[in-house]
Amino acid sequence: MSFALGLRCRDCGETYPLAPQAGCETCFAPLEVVYDLEALGRALHPARIASRPADMWRYRELLPIEPEAASPRPRPTGLKIGWTPLQPAPRLARSLGVRELYIKNDAVNFPTLSFKDRVVAVALDCAVRFGFNVVACSSTGNLANAVAAQAAALGLESFIFTPADLETAKILATRIYGARLIQIDGNYDQVNRLCGEIAQKLPWGIVNVNLRPFYAEGSKTVAYEIAEQLGWRFPDALVCPMAGGSLLTKIGRGFDELRALGWASGDSRICGAQAAGCSPISTAVKNGSREIVPQKPRTIARSLAIGDPADGFYAAETIRRTGGWAEDATDEEIVAGIRVLAETEGIFAETAGGVTVAGARKLLASGRIDPNGSLVLVISGNGLKTLDAVADQFDQQVVLPPRLADFEAYLSSRQPAAPALETVLA
Ligand SMILES: *Cc1c(COP(=O)(O)O)cnc(C)c1O
Ligand SMILES: [Zn+2]
Repeated sequence: MSFALGLRCRDCGETYPLAPQAGCETCFAPLEVVYDLEALGRALHPARIASRPADMWRYRELLPIEPEAASPRPRPTGLKIGWTPLQPAPRLARSLGVRELYIKNDAVNFPTLSFKDRVVAVALDCAVRFGFNVVACSSTGNLANAVAAQAAALGLESFIFTPADLETAKILATRIYGARLIQIDGNYDQVNRLCGEIAQKLPWGIVNVNLRPFYAEGSKTVAYEIAEQLGWRFPDALVCPMAGGSLLTKIGRGFDELRALGWASGDSRICGAQAAGCSPISTAVKNGSREIVPQKPRTIARSLAIGDPADGFYAAETIRRTGGWAEDATDEEIVAGIRVLAETEGIFAETAGGVTVAGARKLLASGRIDPNGSLVLVISGNGLKTLDAVADQFDQQVVLPPRLADFEAYLSSRQPAAPALETVLA
């Protein structure tokens, strides 16, 4: 059964039914799903979760999805999403200078290779239940891919609104599913404002507007998986990329719920990483300010380019109350972060992953993260979608004739390997 009771305003506490709504009617703050955790704790035990299929629906009682649809996976959104690897990363650990390191690898989340498949799975399950035939979203790219693909699988029509300067791969990986892509001559914050206005006019389920309270819940499954994969314990610290700040906030919420259920205990310092060219949240954390000052984004990390983050305040608060910190990375450091992750662990992350690796290095260097503890890096998207970011990193590829003598000549003249990336990142 579902243990979701309703929606509640995060600021004033006003409650609302489980229905499409963008925010609180009185104070406009974000809404959160409230659960009956006591009843849930009596009905469900980690041992039962362990016997379930390896996807995010193993935590279905902690998501706002239909009770009768919930076994073994919700219908019709019954896709295998989540339960991505938590990969030990000893070689990257040596490079960063930390004892115990893991990569939570959502670069290989299905079906569209980013963590956004998790949030969209919950949002579209709710969209179907609420009777929407058309779904939409504003997106910096990965959300566009996830909504387009999953809407296609559900037979829903989709409208995707993005800034016009998106990466080619993210444009094609939206259009291929038959979604209607509307590119706007403006930045994400302008696109998002437009979607807010559309939500007032049209009977559409807009994933990050009137479905936002449900959408955001999907991110909690990253936290549940990390804890379960570590044997129901928390890492001493975690680094998460931030755009609107929802993923980081919900990882904090997911850990809180596991503590309340008594399934895991202890503390985890939740740290955030942003691009230096779009750092409203990390700037507020570093300045000790409670106010998020919007910025005009200028970074190669387009998936994180949200200058006016909807959950920025809550992300900063989560960082503060868990004893975490925040850092930001220049474009050069982002590329170096992508390369060192690929070269040490064989994981090709998108620009957001470069932000996370570079941010972690700075947090370790400054002592904000304990090098003798355990650390998880949340890698949220796939490098094949942001090839342009690394396209200028390599010399012209040599083409040899198909002759052994030429290959031997090549081997003997070969230049030493590329310079160590540590120098760029240090
Ligand atoms: C959307 C996104 C994020 C951040 O998500 P928020 O919840 O908006 O902070 C991180 N990484 C990638 C790859 C994304 O697409
Ligand atoms: Zn309110």
